[in-house]
Amino acid sequence: MTFSPSPFEKHTFRGREIYVKRDDALHVDFSGNKARKFHWFLNQKFPHVKRVVSYGSNQSNAMYSLSVMARMRGWKFVYFCNHIPDFLKQNPVGNYKYALENDMEIIESLQRREDTYMYNSNSDLIVEEGGRQKEAEFGVKVLADELKKDIEKEGIENPYIYLPSGTGTTALFLQKNLPFRVFTCSTVGDDEYLKEQFKEISEDSFPIILSSQKKYHYGKLYKESYELWKELQEDMGITFDLMYDPVGWIKFLLHVEGLEGTPIYIHQGGVLGNESMKQRYERKYETDKNRR
Ligand SMILES: *Cc1c(COP(=O)(O)O)cnc(C)c1O
Repeated sequence: MTFSPSPFEKHTFRGREIYVKRDDALHVDFSGNKARKFHWFLNQKFPHVKRVVSYGSNQSNAMYSLSVMARMRGWKFVYFCNHIPDFLKQNPVGNYKYALENDMEIIESLQRREDTYMYNSNSDLIVEEGGRQKEAEFGVKVLADELKKDIEKEGIENPYIYLPSGTGTTALFLQKNLPFRVFTCSTVGDDEYLKEQFKEISEDSFPIILSSQKKYHYGKLYKESYELWKELQEDMGITFDLMYDPVGWIKFLLHVEGLEGTPIYIHQGGVLGNESMKQRYERKYETDKNRR
């Protein structure tokens, strides 16, 4: 299977010109960069595989994308996660809900990675958390090749790429396959943790990490994140993801003055997962407002 190239758009935000690569629009059923990371798996024959087994968080974009892949290919899908809150079990929402609709079997386990590797027979395909593995390079290189064409077509001088990282797999393989600077930031752990993750996948040159004094914890709600997310939506007409993108934009705006060249922001999808984050944000900030 191949994907048509995703749109490449010119925007202005806070008076600054910025291009946005719309990988969120890559495929209706896959979360942008997960489609890139799983591209290789989508193209293999895997005659022996009957089941895909993976692990991660209970609202993961990768989890949903794997459920789509399993359905498309007639495989079973088993997924391990640490914990599913009772509230979510009773009120399924977002990626969790849609993956269940694709017949995902989800199992709570405190040693989710070890449990995943217990299922390691010939007929099982094991996929690392968030698709953090070498096979991801295949699809990310396709993205890199699209970007080269986009940049040439638009005649962009001195471009640089920016995208927020989870595992860092996408940023790392973009840097490996592009002759331009790639900047990223950590959103899941701290910057040291992101560097460790880079080292585990590859020994190539690493993307440059933009840091911040303030620590942002993954999945935690920040008023400034929500405000910025809404401003981006109003100003550019683009709905970004609520897990990675707000922190990505906050750290980008901290450094943008000092970065030379024309920025290209990679929108990596994940908007399906917004449902649950949006509910949480609205409960926290919008109802506060109503009460006042
Ligand atoms: C998975 C994901 C990321 C992180 O990608 P990595 O390759 O793990 O760094 C960023 N943004 C969105 C929307 C994602 O779904």
